[in-house]
Amino acid sequence: MSASPPPVWRIALPLPLPRLFDYLPPIGASCPAAGARVRVPFGQRTLVGFFIEEGTAAVDGVALKRVDAVLDPDASPFDTALWLSLHWAASYYQRALGDVLASALPIPLRQGEAPPDTRIAYWYLSEAGRTARPTLRVGSRPRALADFLAGGERDAAGLAGFDPKWRSTLRTLDTRGLIQTRLRPPGAQLSEPRRAAPALSVEQGTAVQAIEAMAGRFDVALLEGVTGSGKTEVYLAAIEQCLARGRQALVLVPEIGLTPQAIRRYGERLPVPVHALHSGLSDAERARTHTLMARGEARVLIGTRSAVFSPLPEPGLIVIDEEHDASYKQQDGFRYHARDFALMRAKRLGIPVVLGSATPSLETLQHARQGRYRWLTLRERAGGAKPPRVHVLDLRGQRLTHGLSRPLIDAIGACLRRGEQAMVFRNRRGYAPVLLCHDCGWHADCPRCDRAMTLHGRNRLICHHCGHRKPAPPACPDCGGLALVPQGAGTERLEQALADAFPDVPLVRVDRETTHGRDAVEKHFDALGDAPGLLVGTQMLAKGHDLPNLTLVAIASIDDGLFSADFRAGERLAQLLIQVAGRAGRAQKPGEVWLQTHHPDHPLLQTLITRGYPSFAEAELAQRAEAQFPPFSYLALLRAEATHEAALKDFLATAHGLARGHDQVQAHPPMPAPMPRRAGRMRGQLLIESSHRPALQAMLRSLFVQLHDLPEARKVRWSLDVDPVDLY
Ligand code: ADP
Ligand code: ZN
Ligand code: ZN
Repeated sequence: MSASPPPVWRIALPLPLPRLFDYLPPIGASCPAAGARVRVPFGQRTLVGFFIEEGTAAVDGVALKRVDAVLDPDASPFDTALWLSLHWAASYYQRALGDVLASALPIPLRQGEAPPDTRIAYWYLSEAGRTARPTLRVGSRPRALADFLAGGERDAAGLAGFDPKWRSTLRTLDTRGLIQTRLRPPGAQLSEPRRAAPALSVEQGTAVQAIEAMAGRFDVALLEGVTGSGKTEVYLAAIEQCLARGRQALVLVPEIGLTPQAIRRYGERLPVPVHALHSGLSDAERARTHTLMARGEARVLIGTRSAVFSPLPEPGLIVIDEEHDASYKQQDGFRYHARDFALMRAKRLGIPVVLGSATPSLETLQHARQGRYRWLTLRERAGGAKPPRVHVLDLRGQRLTHGLSRPLIDAIGACLRRGEQAMVFRNRRGYAPVLLCHDCGWHADCPRCDRAMTLHGRNRLICHHCGHRKPAPPACPDCGGLALVPQGAGTERLEQALADAFPDVPLVRVDRETTHGRDAVEKHFDALGDAPGLLVGTQMLAKGHDLPNLTLVAIASIDDGLFSADFRAGERLAQLLIQVAGRAGRAQKPGEVWLQTHHPDHPLLQTLITRGYPSFAEAELAQRAEAQFPPFSYLALLRAEATHEAALKDFLATAHGLARGHDQVQAHPPMPAPMPRRAGRMRGQLLIESSHRPALQAMLRSLFVQLHDLPEARKVRWSLDVDPVDLY
């Protein structure tokens, strides 16, 4: 007779395997809360996993290892709503639960560290300091600081406001034993904001009231407002009300939108310190911010995509600025969409979400059209600024000078003579996208990818897909001809064209080559100031702080986006055009927008220019409905790559076999990826489609588990992308 099986703990480990792992509990330990971190042996390693539940061992438990330690004996690091939302995400995005849970924590906590001390230091005069203060020389820095501290204890921010060199002065006082410190939790009391709000327009006021009416329950508002219409003012007013109710607010912004200026603007206008989460922070700083939110010591968090996992013990409001932005979708590993995750989380938290954009995604618009979201609009630019005038420049038959047409150069000249600034935008860095032999048609392709290499400078070829570099050949490798000509213009070439045409005007190029670090774009803008000047660059220019003297925006070529095979290309291009155009003429001066194209009659362009984004979006939605594309159907993409084509084909063929024959779900045959070879690896994909989301989900769940066990899967790298934003 065998003994009854021992109790085991089911643990989720941060591994890409779709299962839980059984461990024996530590001797004498009682069950922790679901989600508590535990340290466990795994092979030769130790891993930090998450306690899921207690169960009984399937076998007699002899072979099971034991949990080393419970790291969160008192409480789970996840609140209930987040816990449930992460379970939803693991199942919806087909990702191992342990992996998903780990992604939601900052790295130090993932690695098992305790939440950091969030208290901050306050300095005050010691007994000796109070005695010695009158003896310090009047007018000296130490005396001034001692006098300041005699008024009460101060933290670093308070001291910095008093004396920019406070650290060294403080050290002087400290070495003489005149000061002491104590640690206190940061205060979360409301204070007077440093800058007052403008009087809201009628439309803004209506929007704020509508959002206020949603407080305390799950509801979604789409705030559709043209660029510069004052959406941020609406967010700020809504956040203020949320704070006044004693609640926390979370603001998500696209990667490119979280500038120091944006953080400053929120900070000046809100009655609490504003915390930010972005890629420029150290792991320790991220862990601290996370913990401040968890303890309710931070009340407002503004951050990029992954901030959506921040703790919200006293939730009040989630704002998603530029909700259409593609950077909300994680493009590798755990491929979640931060907007969609935020909506699921808000539903469980019972709080409202505000989705803001000048160019809402068609998914969001469709919800608004069906009445599932409240649809709030701001039609006018704030402060009386007029919408810019749009000129379409027909490039057919025009002679271009390094990518610029004569009429555009003239318009830029006139703008500069008026004492204003102009910006030329091109979504391609480098000198020229192609190096072509004029005699035989040879062009420089990357040896590792199926793509042309970009010419940088006069003689460097760089592949933008795999980073491969080589010198440009002096003569054509095929025919020996010397007529190698750069085709098309990247930002470098446009920079040269502008420098030639306007040699005496300050000119700044903004792209990945010239711009490193988070504040770099701002620094470029600051360097230009308000004087007449020129900016040229990639979409890094599309956002950033307002340039009141910028009145002309030119897009050097919009043709790439007009004929892409991706069904979302039109939407993307329209959003980009509107976004870039929105940079012109934000203050009192009227703006102008110049679009260079070989396809001036393209319907997308015509609709967009003559009738605006809403009409464009209506037309595009009608087409999507016709073709049964999202938001009228749901997609998933199985991507795979392998060193050998045969391995790739075997895997995709088997996967296709598994994906077929499910009710209401269509699995298209395997296809080469649009770039069939990248960095020397062969790439293919399988598109899966359904008009019924639950059917697609059920099918993906079984597919995901089956794929893991396939022998064919060993020779390929594969991933499932649910609701892909990039089909290619
Ligand atoms: P959006 O977020 O829609 O692009 P912003 O909120 O940044 O617009 O507003 C654009 C500019 O107009 C900012 O300089 C802002 O301070 C100003 N602004 C916004 N609302 C008002 C208002 N009601 N009165 C005066 N100026 C305003
Ligand atoms: Zn040739
Ligand atoms: Zn390459």
